[in-house]
Amino acid sequence: MSLALSSILILNKPMTAEQKSDAARLLDIAGDYLRDGYRRDREAPVFLSDPSPQERGAASVAEAAQGPDTPDAVAEAIGGCTGCQLCKTRTKAVPGEGAGQPLVLVVGEGPGADEDASGRPFVGKAGQLLDKMLASIGLFRDTNCFIANVVKCRPPGNRDPQPEEIAACAPFLARQIALLRPLVILCAGRFAAQTLLHTAEGIGRLRGRFGVYSAEYPAITDHVTLGSSGVPIPILPTYHPSALLRDETLKRPAWEDLKTLRAKLVEMDDTYARETEGLH
Ligand code: SF4
Repeated sequence: MSLALSSILILNKPMTAEQKSDAARLLDIAGDYLRDGYRRDREAPVFLSDPSPQERGAASVAEAAQGPDTPDAVAEAIGGCTGCQLCKTRTKAVPGEGAGQPLVLVVGEGPGADEDASGRPFVGKAGQLLDKMLASIGLFRDTNCFIANVVKCRPPGNRDPQPEEIAACAPFLARQIALLRPLVILCAGRFAAQTLLHTAEGIGRLRGRFGVYSAEYPAITDHVTLGSSGVPIPILPTYHPSALLRDETLKRPAWEDLKTLRAKLVEMDDTYARETEGLH
């Protein structure tokens, strides 16, 4: 904290507009550290909404996402997609993988280096941790989970995906959700949670609480708000596994989130409840 700001606060003197702005910024930074354990860039979040013509990048993406009627066909369309600039730097597109009728769809931000090289989602250290976390509550990507990302091609240098990239790629995720009809969507990390829940709140506040898709975006809503039971698909945000690798103290709240997810699935699916009885 600057000397001038400290003395103002101590002496209870009125602040100038600039000093107020400094104080607000410092409180904001402190809030990030207290809630999330680290500071993330403060860019306005981009929401999973109907892309405007300017943002769309390529109308062909929306068209490509409409046609396929199986997850494999969506994956094929993604593999050949050139709908945004990320196609120029990717090695392989990463459509996602998992069960055809998953209990849970896990959504991350975008592929990293390992995923870009292999064409598979969450295969690096963070992915291995994710698999262990899911397995602890009886979830596996080859039987009852599907793992995907908001954008299907790697942003260079692991930067955040840009608004036009998210907008261009959104129809693919929407189509996957429409075809997979998961009981619950688990958002891994701030970026996926903010995108799917249409919010700017930090992951420290969002985690562990269920939300649903905003009804403000009809084109997406038509595809994704109704789950197989005819009710909105609950979305549960939690920390990204790579955040847990950086900060061990986040593992306990992440475990609480998994227990929340398991309780919801037990409520929604008798078979899962029976098969995982006695797990925790
Ligand atoms: S990120 Fe999405 S829209 Fe962009 S090229 Fe890859 S698949 Fe297409």
